[in-house]
Amino acid sequence: MKPVLALVGRPNVGKSTLFNRLTQSRDAIVADFAGLTRDRHYGNGHLGRREFIVIDTGGFEPTAESGIYKEMAKQTRQAVAESDVVIFVVDARGGISAQDHDIANYLRKLGKPTLLIANKAEGMQQGLQLVEFFELGLGEVLPVSAAHGQGVRSMVEEALDKL
Ligand code: GDP
Ligand code: MG
Repeated sequence: MKPVLALVGRPNVGKSTLFNRLTQSRDAIVADFAGLTRDRHYGNGHLGRREFIVIDTGGFEPTAESGIYKEMAKQTRQAVAESDVVIFVVDARGGISAQDHDIANYLRKLGKPTLLIANKAEGMQQGLQLVEFFELGLGEVLPVSAAHGQGVRSMVEEALDKL
């Protein structure tokens, strides 16, 4: 069985861009507006000869109680349940939001192997600006730029190391 990695995070942090990079496809819809990927979305990726499956998800609001956000949260919980490792994506430029805290709480309770990554980190003075993400209680944050491909390989290596 190939390991399954789920990309989870609030809308617009770059999950679909990362999915496309990992699967070298344009299957996921990358959008400038929030919450476009409403369903779970599966793709194949590989690191050298190691193959894995990656799931893209819509934006996750664990506490959503109605409408499309509730449905997206349900889809995301299913993706998380199906995965071996969760890649929790935050926005290195946008900083921590209340929604990030909600997601972090949910993932910590779940206790599934989770890798915290800060996307959009290209050209940033990493150490300094990323310390705030320690607050999420998920350990060290890995800087990544999905758009530029930076840190993506290390991210997959670390994710697969958690198996
Ligand atoms: P999703 O809602 O989490 O799936 O986010 P998307 O992949 O749709 O991306 C949201 C926006 O962030 C788009 O405008 C992307 O071009 C942009 N984006 C994604 N990755 C990066 C990155 O590494 N750096 C920068 N600067 N922008 C990015
Ligand atoms: Mg998306």
